[in-house]
Amino acid sequence: MRALLAALLILLAAAAPAQDFSALARLDVAQSQIRDDGDGLGVELHLSQTVPYRAYTLAEPWRLVLDFRELDFRGATRAGLLNADNAEGVRFGPVQPGLSRLVLELGAPMRIATAGLDVDEAAGTATLRVSLVAASAQSATAVAGAPASPGWPDPATAALAPAAPEEAAPLTVVIDPGHGGLDPGAQRAGLDEADVMLTLALELSEALTRAGMRAVLTRTEDVFVPLQDRISIARAAGADVMISLHADALEDDEVTSGASIYTLSASAENEASSRMAERHERGDILGGLDLSGQDDSIATILMELARTETGPSGLRLADALLTALREEGARLRTNPQRQALLAVLTAADFPAVLLEVGFLSSARDRAELTSAEGRAKIIAGITSALRRWAATEEARAPLLRQ
Ligand SMILES: [Zn+2]
Repeated sequence: MRALLAALLILLAAAAPAQDFSALARLDVAQSQIRDDGDGLGVELHLSQTVPYRAYTLAEPWRLVLDFRELDFRGATRAGLLNADNAEGVRFGPVQPGLSRLVLELGAPMRIATAGLDVDEAAGTATLRVSLVAASAQSATAVAGAPASPGWPDPATAALAPAAPEEAAPLTVVIDPGHGGLDPGAQRAGLDEADVMLTLALELSEALTRAGMRAVLTRTEDVFVPLQDRISIARAAGADVMISLHADALEDDEVTSGASIYTLSASAENEASSRMAERHERGDILGGLDLSGQDDSIATILMELARTETGPSGLRLADALLTALREEGARLRTNPQRQALLAVLTAADFPAVLLEVGFLSSARDRAELTSAEGRAKIIAGITSALRRWAATEEARAPLLRQ
């Protein structure tokens, strides 16, 4: 019995000072994440303040249970929190007054290797880290079960699942591979931008689907789609966000390389941006659509933008993309965050960004874009950025409604 008790992880954080109880601890949804760690899992939950907690596993079905006295999970979503193939699901929410719970459904038997709460004394915040390692069913069963810890609900309540949180609709991401059909886009060394972007878009779509998002493509084959139709497709799909994928190519410059991100700007004073706009919008000129008549509606939309959330939200996504692409080892060009007046960015009802994934005029970028490994960095960066951005936007929503 002693051995069993010793094996049980009974973790109780030092009681927080009384004044801390005036506000419920909140989960920082943008920072918190559950990730694969080898065959196991790493749970990292950022909390607005210290909170008593305990961590234990349950057997068949294999679960990690984190109990808190007490934690506000508002704003958290399954897709935002769970970024792991070794877990099958996560539920969280209040169980009874004074008790909140997170239940992580494990894909295989695991045991807790380490668990601890790091307290930032200065900021008053805390980070709970739990590391799970793969274990045999026998050894995982031996350590499973709720500890009989004083002051906590009876182990008999351990199986209680939290009230199902409001199931958030999956994030709808419209992926827009540039060009196509009679418009090949940039062409270098036997490569067509349209083809390279379609390959990337199809792979990105799979990755986003695996991450619990809903991916919609503006084209799935080598066909011409006018720019305004791309926005219409996105709108009809109920886009939460639209990401256009392009690659640039420069004349007499084989050195410039790396990714950059464009958001909408009314001025587009930058000459390079204007040239880029010309190159990319050639598609509509080729397709016979006269964009000159769009000026008034674009102007109207720009004014509308100023009144809506989509402009700042797109900028936050651009920031998240830069950070995540860098983290995943994708190369960025100098001054990677840019602005231009591009038709494909003018939707006012959802944020849109245009990602230039690199330069076909650069041999280095061509090598990255034509290898699955090179594309995987870009795809991982976009996926991670969308997850974080969605969590941030979700967390902002209640603030804005107040
Ligand atoms: Zn392009």
